[in-house]
Amino acid sequence: MKQDIRTRLAALPKVELHCHLEGALRLASLLEVGREYGVDVPLADAEALRPLVQVTYAGGDFAQFLSKFPVLRKFYQSPEVIARFTREAVADAAAENIRYMELRFNPVALASTRGYALADVCEWVSTAAQAAAREHKMQVELIITVNRMEPQRGREMLQVALDFSSRGVVGLDLAGDEVNFPAEPYVPLFQEARAAGLRITAHAGEWTSAASVRYAIEVLGAQRIGHGARVVDDENVMALARERGVAFEVCLTSNIQTSVAPAIKDHPVRQMMKYGLAVSLNTDDPGVQNSTLTDDFCHAHRELEMDIPALERVVLRGAEHAFISVARRAQLVADLQNEFDLLSGSR
Ligand SMILES: [Zn+2]
Repeated sequence: MKQDIRTRLAALPKVELHCHLEGALRLASLLEVGREYGVDVPLADAEALRPLVQVTYAGGDFAQFLSKFPVLRKFYQSPEVIARFTREAVADAAAENIRYMELRFNPVALASTRGYALADVCEWVSTAAQAAAREHKMQVELIITVNRMEPQRGREMLQVALDFSSRGVVGLDLAGDEVNFPAEPYVPLFQEARAAGLRITAHAGEWTSAASVRYAIEVLGAQRIGHGARVVDDENVMALARERGVAFEVCLTSNIQTSVAPAIKDHPVRQMMKYGLAVSLNTDDPGVQNSTLTDDFCHAHRELEMDIPALERVVLRGAEHAFISVARRAQLVADLQNEFDLLSGSR
C-alpha cells in the first residue's frame, strides 16, 4: 500500500539547524515541573497553562511571540529540570527522524531564575545533550544564543562558548528583539568569537529589513542567517549571500505566527531558493509553536509545492552548512543520501 505523504515526510531523515532549547519544552513537562516546584503560573490543567507558553494563533507579532519566553524562564528550577528539558528536546527531534541537530540555548535564560553560574548551566545542557544523542543514535551540537536585550552578559557568554567548545559548543547566535535592539553593541564580541574559531549565525531580516542581513554577514561575520526572509527585498544582499555561500535557516511555522509572511504559500522562501540561496527548513521553537519539523515539511509540500526530492535537497543543504568539520559534513551528506536512496527504493 502506498504510504500517505505525512508518513513519508515523517520517515524522511532530517537535519535541524535552528531550534531553541527554551522554545522546545513539552507542555506536559512544564505542567509537571510547575506543580513539583510550585511555579507561579496557572497549573490547573494543560489548557490553563497553554496560552502563557504557546502561540495558539497565526498572524500574531514578534512581541507576542517573545512574551512566552519570560514565562518559560520561571521553569528552570533545578539542574535536573534543565537536564530533563534538554533530553526531551533531543528525544523529540529523534522522533522526527532528525539525524543531525544543532540545539541552541541562552545560558542566561536558563540560569536567571535560580542564579546559577553560566558554566554550570552549560555543563548540564552539554552532558544531557550528549547522553541523549548517544541514546537516540544521532548527532547533537550546541550553539550559544546571545539575547539582543542582554548586552551586559555578552562577554561571559563568549567565555562559556569558548570554554565549552570541546564539549559540543560549535557556534554563537544573536537572537531576541531585532526591531528595538540593533546588533551594533555585539560587533566586537562576534568578531572575537569568529577569530577564536566559533561559527556564527544571527537572527536577521526576520522582523526588519534586508539591511540587517547585510550587516549580519558583513559586520558580524555570520555564516548562516536565522530566518532572513526579508533578504528578498534587496537583490544586492541576495547576491552577497549567494556569493559568500551564506545559508538561511528558514522556519515556516514560526514566520506565520509572527507575521513575517501572511501565509506559507506567500513565504519568500520560494524566491530565495529560485535565486540560488542555500535554504534549510527548521522549527525555531517547536514547543512554543506547538509544531514539529514534519509539520513544516508537510506545509512545504502542500503549500510551496515542494516534492520529496526537493525536500531531500533542502535536508542536504542543511547538512552542507552544519557547523562541523568538512570531513564530518561530507560524511553526514553521504549518510543522508544513502538513507534517501534506501527509502526511495522501498516507496
Ligand atoms: Zn530563532
